[in-house]
Amino acid sequence: MIIVQQKHLDKILEMTKDYKRLLIIGCDGCASVVKVGGERQAKVLKSLLELRRKTKGDGPAAVKAISILRQCDKEISADALKSSIANYDGVVCLGCGVGVQTLAEICEPTPVVPGTDTKFLGMHDTKEDKFYEMCKACGDCLLFETGGICPITRCAKSLLNGPCGGQAKGKCEVGGWTNDCAWILIYNRLKERGRLDLFTKFRAPRDFRVSEHPRETSIDVDEEKGKDSNDQ
Ligand code: SF4
Ligand code: SF4
Repeated sequence: MIIVQQKHLDKILEMTKDYKRLLIIGCDGCASVVKVGGERQAKVLKSLLELRRKTKGDGPAAVKAISILRQCDKEISADALKSSIANYDGVVCLGCGVGVQTLAEICEPTPVVPGTDTKFLGMHDTKEDKFYEMCKACGDCLLFETGGICPITRCAKSLLNGPCGGQAKGKCEVGGWTNDCAWILIYNRLKERGRLDLFTKFRAPRDFRVSEHPRETSIDVDEEKGKDSNDQ
């Protein structure tokens, strides 16, 4: 999922100081799952802004909080907002950077500001309640060669051919030997599987053209139709 972190209240106040009527929009997708930008957090932010106005006199005069099923879906977001957006001077979006940009396009000319910082694509360890970066969406996945452990993301130097000289006792020098060295993890996993041939295999430098941005893709409509007819 996409991991986001809410911005400081003072930052949100600074970004919205010119808006008298403010709409806070949470997202029921990733931002809600990470308990940062869902409906509940949108309502809490509304309460904080109202309290701030009562106690310090700054902030918007009227605030409403809602949430949208998935802000990154243009149709869903447009349907949710089209009849009401004209009632507001500005919007705080609690979704990720994709959500902010989707809403900005839909709400124009009403300005949309980010209420969160988008951090990374990550795994949620629910027992520890921590999030770990797992993928940089490189566009050419090689997890089948690395035992399901991504060296591009989890090796601090994104090395492709084994560990650098900075690992000690399985820990990475970047960050002061606190994180596991991804290449030691990969070695151990491949050894368990009896596939050290993949560890010693030479991997050529990556072709960064597959990661050029902005990227776009589409669903293959013919393939989708084929699936539908096979299902019947
Ligand atoms: S190789 Fe790593 S960064 Fe690339 S798609 Fe696979 S998991 Fe993501
Ligand atoms: S110690 Fe391991 S994880 Fe850290 S940069 Fe070197 S190879 Fe990558």
